[in-house]
Amino acid sequence: RAKADGRGTYRFFETGMDARAQARRLLEMDLRAALQRDEFQVYYQPIRDVASGRVVAFEALLRWNHPQRGLIAPINFIPLAEETGLIVQLGEFVLRSACTDATTWPDDVDVAVNLSPVQFKSPNLIASVTEALAVSGLDARRLELEITESVLLQNSEATLTTLHELRAMGVRISLDDFGTGYSSLSYLRSFPFDKIKIDRSFVSELATREDSMAIIRAVTGLGRSLGIVTTAEGVENDVQLELLRREGCTQAQGYLFSKPRPASDVAMMLDRPRLRASA
Ligand code: C2E
Ligand code: MG
Ligand code: MG
Ligand code: MG
Repeated sequence: RAKADGRGTYRFFETGMDARAQARRLLEMDLRAALQRDEFQVYYQPIRDVASGRVVAFEALLRWNHPQRGLIAPINFIPLAEETGLIVQLGEFVLRSACTDATTWPDDVDVAVNLSPVQFKSPNLIASVTEALAVSGLDARRLELEITESVLLQNSEATLTTLHELRAMGVRISLDDFGTGYSSLSYLRSFPFDKIKIDRSFVSELATREDSMAIIRAVTGLGRSLGIVTTAEGVENDVQLELLRREGCTQAQGYLFSKPRPASDVAMMLDRPRLRASA
């Protein structure tokens, strides 16, 4: 019996692996075709200055407009795109789209683009950024690149060289999802980041957990002392916004203002209701 069970389990496991491997191969083929068929679309989410309420930037967030499956969120295809290396091409598409779209916005509105650690390691990175800026004509000072701590974990010499090269071009560098993963304060000393994005997990519990509040207070204080802009991610209600304002957090981003939307909705999202209301 034990043996039969064991074999049954093994067969089940094997079948499961097959199905997963097959689904993965299908998705990979789909991903490649999607690049050719122009199924990817860049959405934008506004980032507001907390003190003035002004929209100061939009974050570019990738979506896959699948003909059968509809709109697919990045969590469902970015990991595979990273494994297969397709993220490099995808990332170039996002950079070019974001820089080009931003040239149609007011000059005082920046654009933030996420960089995958895989893309960051690729020897093409500097050339892709240079090309996206040149082709679009966007002022490099309006481009922010968001990296996560995982980028800093690997290969620190080469990573720092790349960061300094980007900085020399005039591009700004943000540390995304701060407080998750292997957060270490030494990262803040290894490179002079322009911005720290406080992860949504701290913001969502801001009003209900003392420790989240304490962490937000510490990070905004740190930002202030180091001269680094702090942006709170995932702000969903006015209570959170008020607490962030009180702590002196510089910027806020979240569903309270808007979900990510297509480029054609940027003008609508720029309509500055909060600013007008208080003016
Ligand atoms: P991220 O860079 O931290 O982006 C913020 C994520 O939080 C976005 O999810 C956004 O839609 C979501 N968000 C914003 N405000 C709120 C809120 O108030 N409540 C909640 N619940 N969520 C909120 P999205 O668009 O699904 O992207 C997820 C992640 O995928 C991004 O996290 C980023 O790491 C990655 N990603 C997105 N676009 C790209 C891209 O073009 N390239 C790369 N390499 N990664 C990307
Ligand atoms: Mg981001
Ligand atoms: Mg983030
Ligand atoms: Mg996040």
